[in-house]
Amino acid sequence: MGIEDGAGLLAVSTMLPGPSPEEGVKTTLSLKQWLLGVWHWPKYRLLGRCWAQGCGRLMVLHSPWALYDCSRTPLAITLTDAGMARVVIAEAEDLIA
Ligand SMILES: [Zn+2]
Repeated sequence: MGIEDGAGLLAVSTMLPGPSPEEGVKTTLSLKQWLLGVWHWPKYRLLGRCWAQGCGRLMVLHSPWALYDCSRTPLAITLTDAGMARVVIAEAEDLIA
């Protein structure tokens, strides 16, 4: 990944949810982790498939309205009981930390 790539990614980083280091907000991520996130987020956003029930299109093929629609549709995946237990444990650990 060259410098040109990085500059291109920074242009889309304004779409990132959450605070960015430029705003002087303290983040628990190291710069390397943050850069990895900046790289993976658009990758998921553009190349990932939609998880909404009955959709399954590439994220990049969604119009803003379709995206709005899909984000309010139940996911076409379900958690098993074991998976749900893990989520509860992970959330509890988050509260303690
Ligand atoms: Zn969709």
